[in-house]
Amino acid sequence: MAERAHKIEVEGVRVDTRHWIGGARVSSDRTFTDLSPIDETVLGEIAAGGAEEVDRAVAAARAAFPAWAALTAAERGKILHRVADGIDTRREDLARVETRDNGSLLRSHRRGVMPRVALNFRWFADHAETLAPEPREIRDHRERITYDPAGVVAVITPWNAPLMLATWRAGPALAAGDTVVLKPPEWAPLTASLLADITHEAGLPPGVFNVVQGTGAEAGAALSRHPDINRLSFTGSVPTAGVVAAAAAPNIVPLSFELGGKSPLLVFDDCDLDLAVSLAVEQFDNAGQVCLGAFRLLVQEGIAHEFVLRVTERTRTLVQGDPRDERTDVSVLVSRAHFDRVSGFVERALADGAKAIAGGGPNTGLRGLYYFPTILTDARPGSEILTEEVFGPVLTVQTFGTEDEGVRMANNTRFGLAATLVTGSAERAERVSAALKAGTVWVNCFFVRDLGAPFGGNGRSGIGREGGTYSFDFYCDVKNTVFAPIGWTGKEA
Ligand code: NAD
Repeated sequence: MAERAHKIEVEGVRVDTRHWIGGARVSSDRTFTDLSPIDETVLGEIAAGGAEEVDRAVAAARAAFPAWAALTAAERGKILHRVADGIDTRREDLARVETRDNGSLLRSHRRGVMPRVALNFRWFADHAETLAPEPREIRDHRERITYDPAGVVAVITPWNAPLMLATWRAGPALAAGDTVVLKPPEWAPLTASLLADITHEAGLPPGVFNVVQGTGAEAGAALSRHPDINRLSFTGSVPTAGVVAAAAAPNIVPLSFELGGKSPLLVFDDCDLDLAVSLAVEQFDNAGQVCLGAFRLLVQEGIAHEFVLRVTERTRTLVQGDPRDERTDVSVLVSRAHFDRVSGFVERALADGAKAIAGGGPNTGLRGLYYFPTILTDARPGSEILTEEVFGPVLTVQTFGTEDEGVRMANNTRFGLAATLVTGSAERAERVSAALKAGTVWVNCFFVRDLGAPFGGNGRSGIGREGGTYSFDFYCDVKNTVFAPIGWTGKEA
């Protein structure tokens, strides 16, 4: 088929619908349909890989590994900086395509997400150069710790922040000297294809970075059970994680899992109420399709009435609409199936006694997958709306009396990705943050994070930590070598 037939135009940007394997475009007999959630129109038919394409990609990554691993971190870093430059140059294209593909806000991509995508390469490229600690002396022997590249890394990513999450895993893996096979989400696969173009233009050698598109059940499953991968980085939901872990288990492949959450926003009566209200409303970002979202608002009784009133008022002022419009605050849900899932959660909660004080259903004033930013009170303790991840624009409100009670409610979850607390007291901030069980705790702020900081979740929210040297601990085979002095006879001095 002519080259042109494999290209689609999305928001004026040409995107190749084929896989990227061994430095070449590869098609499949089968395709899957990629819809835009903005208007549910078809963006294109995308090559759907399975076991055969995954085999080819893992073989290409394996073949490319020795030469890539043999480069110094500085040599790899030069190429990865060029990838980051390419991302910066094509930032607007990437932003527009991502928005069209998954319905997330264009303004967020322009201002925050795409710069961070480039940083995912720059930061880890620079830090890979500083990994090896100084050799240590131990009883006249010299001890050397090295971070050796581990091999082929499989990366499986979700649709809510596809390019950010793909590069957050691929950036450090490539910087570490590993080669990568990425399986992007079938709901939003397009920016992964653009990233493949960018890596090629930046001079990344063939096979170092590969993309196999397809459904989770086919491409994802084939990748996670593949016997020739050395690491598996999965970002997605808890049920899928269980399947992926089982598939990888026979091969004893080390896993890094970043999964769902049900994080609390703990609001104490000594807080700056304006700040607390802003932090609560911020949870509607990306229409609530954020793993870190603090969707459980836990408010101390004394300020609960005022807080709820003000959060509700502010929520009603949010502008819902097309994510390409810079004025839009809250956009669409990613797919019809997800829309029905979110609706189901709210309907069941309402039937179970909860009250909607904002939203509570689809925004029928707009055509498409727009769900009103929703706030629910009076949910039954222990009910699914308070315990399960909804992954939509749905906040619940519960009140507490004492600090201990608030902390107990915050920690009463099987997840443990993040927790946020708002207080005006430095002592309380210390006490409560220490008592909260979560991978990240934010005090009087939200979403602030340095790439050097550990990131990951407790409980059902994941396995392991990434960020900074935590990433390299995962993506490298860390080795300790002990040298006796030449001429040493084997006897202790
Ligand atoms: P999902 O688990 O349905 O899919 C994630 C990826 O797994 C997709 O690429 C999918 O194709 C693939 N997959 C599905 N079935 C598979 C199988 N049997 N074998 C291998 N791969 C398979 O998740 P989603 O709906 O795309 O994303 C939403 C979830 O991701 C939420 O739970 C959210 O909290 C989580 N998430 C977590 C983080 C984090 O950093 N902790 C970040 C973003 C999203």
